[in-house]
Amino acid sequence: MSNLWQSVEVLAGGNHVAAEWAKWSGDHFDLFRAHFLRDTEKRAGFVPCPHGCGCDHRIHKRATGALVGVCQCEPWNCEDVAVTPAEATLLALNIAKFGRAVSKVFECELRETRMPPPMTWQIGAKFANALPVFLTIQNERAAFRQVVADLAARQRERFILLAPTNRLLDAASRELLAGARAGFFDLETNLVLLSTGKLHPKARPGELFQPFAPDATEPAPETVFAHIIALIEKLDGDEQIKDPSVMRVFRLYCGHGLAAEAVAKRCGCVKTTVLKRLNIIRRVTGKDPEELRAYSPFFNKVDDAVADSRAEHIHRKSLVHDIEERENE
Ligand SMILES: [Zn+2]
Ligand SMILES: [Zn+2]
Repeated sequence: MSNLWQSVEVLAGGNHVAAEWAKWSGDHFDLFRAHFLRDTEKRAGFVPCPHGCGCDHRIHKRATGALVGVCQCEPWNCEDVAVTPAEATLLALNIAKFGRAVSKVFECELRETRMPPPMTWQIGAKFANALPVFLTIQNERAAFRQVVADLAARQRERFILLAPTNRLLDAASRELLAGARAGFFDLETNLVLLSTGKLHPKARPGELFQPFAPDATEPAPETVFAHIIALIEKLDGDEQIKDPSVMRVFRLYCGHGLAAEAVAKRCGCVKTTVLKRLNIIRRVTGKDPEELRAYSPFFNKVDDAVADSRAEHIHRKSLVHDIEERENE
C-alpha cells in the first residue's frame, strides 16, 4: 500500500531527492512526480543507500564530473554508488499547482491566499456563501492543532479544513473544529489520483460539504448527466462524424468503463480514432472522460432496455425528456 498522502505530509516541508519521495509514495511516485513535484535545480548532499547499509551516501563529484554516493558508515561497509544528476536533484512539492488541483477537484472557486500559520492556504471558496476552504500540510500533531486553533480564532463563519491525511487530528483539534462549526476532510479518504495525473473525488464535493452550507444547493447528478447526454447527442446530429459516433465511444468508455483500446476493438476502428472522440467529449463537456465514468450508474438505466442503436437513440432521448419533465414539476 502506498503512503502517497502521508509522503506529502512528511516531505512537503523541505526538499528531498527522488529516492526519498519514491520510498514514501511507492507506486504513485512517477505519476506524482510528473504532476506535482518540481525540480529545485539544487543538488542534494546525500542520497539514501540503495542497499540499506544504514547511512545516507554522501554525494561526491569525481574529477570526471560523474557523481558518486559514498557510504558514511563506520566501519565502511558499502560500495560507492553511481548517482545521476536527476537522482541528485532536490525535488519540492509544487504547492501552487497542488492547491489549485485540490481546489478544482472539490469544485471550489479558486483562491490562492497564504494564511499566517506555516504551510496553510485558503485554496478555495465553496457555494454561494463563499464558505472558505483551507488546506494545511503538517507533520506534527502539535503543529496541526496550532493551525486549527489559529483558523478557528480567525474565522467568524464556518469553514472547511483539508489536510492530506487524518492522522494528526486528535481530540483537542476535533473539539476546536466542532466549536468553530468547521468541517475537516482528509484527501486520503476523499480523493484518488487517476492515471492521467488528475485528482478525482470519491464522493460528490457538493454532498461532502453540504452540511456546512445548509442554504446552498447543487444540481442533482442525473440533471448533470442529462445535460451531458444532450450535448453529445446534439454533436452527433450536427457534425458529419464517421463511425464510431461520439455517443458510442462515450457509452463504451464512460458507461462500461472500457479502456480506449477495448473500445477501438469493439467498434472495429483504430485507437487513435477513439482518442479523437474522447477529445471531442472533453472539449464539449469540459470534463475529463475518465471523470465522467462517475456517471456510469446512469448509463445502465439506458443500456438495460436497449437492443439496437436506433432504439437506443430514441430511448435515451426519452430519458432526457423524463428528467427534464420531472425537474419542471
Ligand atoms: Zn550503503
Ligand atoms: Zn553506509
